[in-house]
Amino acid sequence: MTHLGYRLALTLDYPSGKYTGTVEVSLPGPVDTLRLNAAGIRPLGASAAGSPVPLLEEAATETWTLGPFPGSASTVSVRFQGEVNVSGLGGFYRSRHGEGILFTTHLAPTNARSLFPCLDDPKERATVELEITTPAGPEVIFNTPLLQAREEGDRVTRRFAPTPPWPPTSSTSGWGFDRYTEQEGKVTVTCLTPPGRGTEGRWAVENARKVLRGYADYYGQPYPLEKLDLVSVQDFGMGAMENWGAITFREEYLLANASTPARLKQRIAEVVAHEIAHQWFGNLVTMARWEDIWLNESFATFVSYRLVDRLYPAWDLLGEFLSVETGGAL
Ligand SMILES: [Zn+2]
Repeated sequence: MTHLGYRLALTLDYPSGKYTGTVEVSLPGPVDTLRLNAAGIRPLGASAAGSPVPLLEEAATETWTLGPFPGSASTVSVRFQGEVNVSGLGGFYRSRHGEGILFTTHLAPTNARSLFPCLDDPKERATVELEITTPAGPEVIFNTPLLQAREEGDRVTRRFAPTPPWPPTSSTSGWGFDRYTEQEGKVTVTCLTPPGRGTEGRWAVENARKVLRGYADYYGQPYPLEKLDLVSVQDFGMGAMENWGAITFREEYLLANASTPARLKQRIAEVVAHEIAHQWFGNLVTMARWEDIWLNESFATFVSYRLVDRLYPAWDLLGEFLSVETGGAL
C-alpha cells in the first residue's frame, strides 16, 4: 500500500502565532494533478522538479488543486502562511499555560487542513516529518521523538522522527513545561505540566504504565512508538485527544496532587486508559470514514472499562459501565 508522505517545515513566531510553512508532498505515482485540503491558510506558491506549478484555490470545497506537474516530478512543494487561532479551541490554537501561553493543536476531525495543506481524510494515512523553527525559549512537543535541535542566532530549528502513517498530526509548543517521567519497558512515559507542577503528573504516568502493559497483552501487539507524552493543556474543548504519542488532556483529567478527591483520581485513570486504548484502536488501526467514529469510541470505551476494572476491582467499574454508558446508548 502506498502512503503519502509530508515533509513539513514551519517557521513559527512567538508570541504573534504567525507562521510560514513549506510542505513537500511525495506523489503517489505518476499523476497530473493533486487535490489537497486547505482552509484558513494562504497559498504562497507551488513547485515541482524545479519549476513553478499552477495552484487553484477553491474556498467552497476547501481544496487547493496542484498541477499539471512536469513528467519527472516525484514530489511537489507548497508554500503557505497561517496564523494560530486565538479565538477558539480548534486547529492550531493558543491556550493559557501557567502564567504564560502555549500553542497546541486539536486537528480531529477536519482541522489538519487549517495547519497545512494535506489530504485531510482518515483513510489517507500518511507519514509526517516535522521541522519547526521557533525563537529560542519555547519547547516543542511532537508525536515522535526529537532527532536534532540546531541553534542559529536567536532561533532554534528542531527536527523530529517521521511519524507512522496516520492522518492528523499533533504539536504543542510553549515555555516552561515541567515533566514527570517513568520508563515502561522501551517506552518513555512523560507527563508535561505547567511550570512548577511536574509531580502532579505522577498518578497519570503510573496509570499509563499499567494500561500500556495491559493493552500490549490484550491486543497482542506492543505499543508501537518509543515515547508516550501526556500533555496538560489548560484551555481544551474536549476531555482529551488521543494524538499518537502526544495525547493532550484538559488539566483536570490529567494532574493530581494530595488534595485531589478520590473520585477525580479515578476519573483521571479512566481517561488515561481510554486515550491509551486509542493508541491501538484509532491510531494503529483507523476507521476509513469519520462517520464510523462510533466504532472507534465504543470499542475504546469498552476495552478501557474492562482493563481499569481489572486493575482496580474495588471501583466496580463494570457496574458503572452498565449504568453510565449502556444507559446512554439505549
Ligand atoms: Zn475516545
